[in-house]
Amino acid sequence: MIVIVGNGVAGIAAAEALRAGGCTDAITLLGDEAHPPYHRPPRSKAWLAGEMEAAQLQMRSPEALARKQIELRPGVGVQAIDRAKCEVTLSDGQTLPYTGLVLATGSTPRRLSLPGGDAPMCWPCARATTLKPSPPAWRKQPRKACRWW
Ligand SMILES: Cc1cc2nc3c(=O)[nH]c(=O)nc-3n(C[C@H](O)[C@H](O)[C@H](O)COP(=O)(O)OP(=O)(O)OC[C@H]3O[C@@H](n4cnc5c(N)ncnc54)[C@H](O)[C@@H]3O)c2cc1C
Repeated sequence: MIVIVGNGVAGIAAAEALRAGGCTDAITLLGDEAHPPYHRPPRSKAWLAGEMEAAQLQMRSPEALARKQIELRPGVGVQAIDRAKCEVTLSDGQTLPYTGLVLATGSTPRRLSLPGGDAPMCWPCARATTLKPSPPAWRKQPRKACRWW
């Protein structure tokens, strides 16, 4: 069993490359976000500008991954790795054994530690949940600077 932690572009690429390379092991793709994998770059561009629907952000559907025998488990985080036992502990308390482990967890943005860094219109948008409620409000604001984290 190959366990891949993180279902962003790196996790998806790893899973699909393993299959394309002839790997026949079970592959489980874990992601702590509730959503199926999605493209992040448009979230600070076309989607934020209202030129793209949320559905168009989807990177792979669970069905498309299942056709490649890749099991997608969104909403399941990895909380601990036991390298001696070769198993991971999941956010639901279960453990999952692995013969191969891929860490594709991406990165987490830091808040800007400057005056104004906590302004209402200044927050990280790396995760779908942090931006979802407010695109209309963003669109109405004059944009002086845009950083894509
Ligand atoms: C808004 C935005 C715009 C961007 N625009 C551009 C651009 O124009 N051009 C460009 O080159 N790049 C851009 N990027 C950067 C690009 O999206 C990232 O480089 C890319 O997403 C990194 O992919 P990744 O798979 O390594 O990590 P991520 O996409 O961060 O995926 C990692 C996943 O792992 C999950 N995870 C983390 N820890 C755990 C755990 N313990 N258990 C389970 N799951 C976990 C995370 O929740 C996340 O879903 C942008 C990023 C953002 C956020």
